[in-house]
Amino acid sequence: MAAIVWFRRDLRVSDHAALQAAVATGEPVIALYIFDQPRGQNWRIGAASGAWLNRSLAALAKQLSALGCELIIRSGRAARVIASVCGEYDAAATNQSSGERVTAVFWHRLYEPDAVARDTAIKAQLQANGLHAESFAGHMLNEPWTIKTQQREVYRVFTPYWRNAWNSLLLEHHAGLRVPLAAPAAIRGATGVSTLALAALKLTPTRPQNRPWDHAFWHEFCPGEVGAQACISQFQDDALHHYQTGRDRPDRRGTSKLGPHLHFGEVSVNQLLALAIHESSAKLKPHAEFFVRELGWRDFSHQLLFHFPQIDRKNLNKKFDALPWAEVSAPMLKAWQRGRTGIPIIDAGMRELWQTGWMHNRVRMLVASFLCKNLRYHWEHGARWFWNTLLDADLANNTQGWQWSAGTGADAAPYFRIFNPVTQGEKFDPNGDYVRRFVPELKHLSGASIHQPWKLGGVSGYPKPILDLAQTRVDALAAFAKTKLAATADGELGSD
Ligand code: FAD
Repeated sequence: MAAIVWFRRDLRVSDHAALQAAVATGEPVIALYIFDQPRGQNWRIGAASGAWLNRSLAALAKQLSALGCELIIRSGRAARVIASVCGEYDAAATNQSSGERVTAVFWHRLYEPDAVARDTAIKAQLQANGLHAESFAGHMLNEPWTIKTQQREVYRVFTPYWRNAWNSLLLEHHAGLRVPLAAPAAIRGATGVSTLALAALKLTPTRPQNRPWDHAFWHEFCPGEVGAQACISQFQDDALHHYQTGRDRPDRRGTSKLGPHLHFGEVSVNQLLALAIHESSAKLKPHAEFFVRELGWRDFSHQLLFHFPQIDRKNLNKKFDALPWAEVSAPMLKAWQRGRTGIPIIDAGMRELWQTGWMHNRVRMLVASFLCKNLRYHWEHGARWFWNTLLDADLANNTQGWQWSAGTGADAAPYFRIFNPVTQGEKFDPNGDYVRRFVPELKHLSGASIHQPWKLGGVSGYPKPILDLAQTRVDALAAFAKTKLAATADGELGSD
């Protein structure tokens, strides 16, 4: 007998209900990872995420090996791969006359529409073949169908959603239902199933000339569960102490940078919830709870995508379908992508993304507003670029972030906002340190004047603004007025 643990975006060994269940069968365990990226799939893994996954799988393989189990890596459609792994194990066991076979498959649930459809079909097929197939919650604080309005409708506004979700979490916590699981002390790995070499997945970025594009990513980030724990410790020692306000400052390390670790499940949200709830310092508690509220945004985004499965391509709010988007100019789009717009905080953000694989949330909002409002390009152009370049690229969060920024998505206030990147820069990067770090051409400018170099007559080597911020704002408002949508000033994502 053997039990398969199908690892997906839960690349850890602690608080892993599926692994725990497999070990509890007492049978040898097949730890299986399937790289399932069919050609033609709309959101195949992006380049930065691929680079992360490569390292994360190596880290998981090392952890499993230390516990006594090999990570089996395969590529292809999951249903076929699982069937073939079962066949391979059963045949090897028959050859050894042990008569053993795979009897169970365990995994954690994912909630993107394609994953739900695939997993539902696989579960039915396995059960039809007489295997025990069981999936577990583990990726979200609350599964997408659990938090509904009193009328059993899906929440489209975050604040009431979170009030309800937080209360439900506290109830479960007090009932003792939220204790994270320890990692198994040892795993009896099954033999007889072959694995691909990790390199066969070709996840590393191609090497342009001498230095790979991702080389600087790893100064900051260390994929894998051990790296996630180090990231949490660093957060607890530093940014957590001022998270509620510090999270808005791109010039400081004010957030956790746990995004990619969470996306790939190298830490569970449940583990983070437990840390926050058990935070005993009265000074830290409000910050820890505010941090959990941000994890609530992650849940909120996932429940939107789960219930409205087309929003990765279509506006959540249909009344915005009439918006007249501008025709894309390839040089303008490229200037935005590579941080050559001539607007310092926009360029700093886009270069931070390109160089480090991450961008601060405040700046994500600014660059998205710039693309969708000042340039008036459809939000999907931005979402695609982020998908390819962000280490924490996540279909639900990215879709929600872009639709919110474009004004087409879920929102507490049904109005249109346009961020002013100059005043936002002055407010959230008051000394210009963030811009100075990523835009070396402006290094010599002091203080907040860095946010408007054109007022100093321009700077040699740095582009003039590719558009007029005031005029494009007026144009955007006029375009929106045509669709009879009201307009207003700044708002904020993540704290409405
Ligand atoms: P922290 O502030 O430390 O937050 C902890 C975790 O909470 C994050 O890692 C994330 O999992 C979750 N979280 C925080 N804010 C949000 C939010 N507004 N929405 C959803 N989850 C949130 N986040 C992604 O994880 N993947 C994306 O692809 C993504 N794309 C975005 C695109 C746009 C245009 C915008 C405006 C935001 C996007 N976000 C995305 C949300 C947010 O910017 C990132 O989650 C955050 O910056 C990650 O940094 P951190 O881990 O230090 O965050």
